[in-house]
Amino acid sequence: MTIKIGVIGTGAIGADHARRITNTLVGAEVIALTDVNLDSAHKVKSDLGLNAEIYPDGHDLIARSGVDAVLVTCWGAAHEEFVVAAIKAGKYVFCEKPLATTAQGCRNIVEAEMASGKRLVQVGFMRPYDSGYKMLKDTIDSGAIGEPLMIHAAHRNASVPEQYISPMAIHDTLIHELDVFRWLLDDDYVSAQVVFPRKTKYAHSKVADPQIVMLETKKGTRIDVEVFVNCQYGYDIQCSVVGEEGIANLPEPQAIVMRKNANLGQQLLTDWKDRFIDAYDVELQDFIDGVTNQNLTGPNSWSGLAAAVSADACVKAQESGQIEAIELPDTPDFYR
Ligand code: NAD
Repeated sequence: MTIKIGVIGTGAIGADHARRITNTLVGAEVIALTDVNLDSAHKVKSDLGLNAEIYPDGHDLIARSGVDAVLVTCWGAAHEEFVVAAIKAGKYVFCEKPLATTAQGCRNIVEAEMASGKRLVQVGFMRPYDSGYKMLKDTIDSGAIGEPLMIHAAHRNASVPEQYISPMAIHDTLIHELDVFRWLLDDDYVSAQVVFPRKTKYAHSKVADPQIVMLETKKGTRIDVEVFVNCQYGYDIQCSVVGEEGIANLPEPQAIVMRKNANLGQQLLTDWKDRFIDAYDVELQDFIDGVTNQNLTGPNSWSGLAAAVSADACVKAQESGQIEAIELPDTPDFYR
C-alpha cells in the first residue's frame, strides 16, 4: 500500500520532506502540492520529477479524495487552520513545529482531534527520533543512573540574522528542548525562569544573548539550558542528565578524530540542518508507517500544546524576570 501525500508549503522543509518521501523513504508518494507561491510548488514538482497535481490552496488539497495524508510545512501562522481542516476531513496530518503559534490554537487542534475520536496528528519534533537522544532515553529508563535529578543543557548556534529577536530564543530555538526534556523525563514542567548573563558583543540589538532558561518539573527535576545563538564556533547541542547514581551525556555527533599540525581534534557542525538529518528521515518514515498501520505513535498534538504553553511561560519569564508558573492539565488518556 502506498500512502498518497499532499504537501502544503513547499519552502525549505516542505521541499526537503517531499525529497525524502520521494528518494529515501518507503511506502508513500507525493501526489499533491500547494504553496502561496505557486512557482515554488511547480519547482519542487519538476526538481523531483513528481507525478503530482498543484492546487491553488491548502483547503483544495485537503479536500482531494485521493490524498490520504497531509504535510503542513507552511509558515507557523497557517498551521492551525490546515491541521484542523485535515482532522475534520478525517485525514492524517504531519505538522511541522510549531503545531500552532498560540497555546489556544494548539488547544483548538487537541479539541478537534479528540472530537474526531482518533489520533490523526503527528508534530514535527524530531529529536525523539535522533539515535543519540534515544540512547539517552534508554539509559534513563533502564535506571542505570538512578532517578534523574538535574539536566544541564545547551543550544548554541554560530550566529543568527538581524530579524532574530529575544522571544525567538524560546519559540524557535528552545522549543525543541522543551519537547525533548518532557519526553526524556516522562514529566511535565511546573515553572520557568530566564536570566541573562553578560551580553556577547556579537549579538544584534534586539536579542539578549546568551540566555539561561531554568525549568522545574512536577517530580522536582531542575533543568538549566543555555541558549547562546551567536556563539561563533558552531552548532552545538549538549545535554547532560545527572542522576542519583551517575551522569548520562548526549553523545556527540560522529566525526573523525584527526591528528594534524600539532593538533588532536574533531570538526564541529556549523549548520543545524546537518545535526538531526537522520532523525528527519526516521520521524517521517514513522509517520508513513503510522498512517499505513492506522496507528500514529510519534509526538502528538498534546506534545505540541505542552511545548506552546511552556514556551509562553518562558517568554513571560524573559519579560518579568520572575519565576513563572507553567500550567498544563494532566495528559488525557487519549494521548497516552
Ligand atoms: P520557508 O519560508 O522556507 O517555507 C514556508 C513556505 O510556506 C513558503 O514557501 C511559503 O510561501 C509557504 N506558505 C506560507 N503560508 C502559506 C499558506 N497559507 N499556504 C500555503 N503555503 C504557504 O520556511 P521553512 O523553513 O520551510 O519552515 C516551515 C515550517 O517548518 C515552520 O513552521 C518552521 O518552524 C518549521 N521548521 C521546522 C524545522 C525542524 O527542525 N523541525 C526546521 C525548519 C523549519
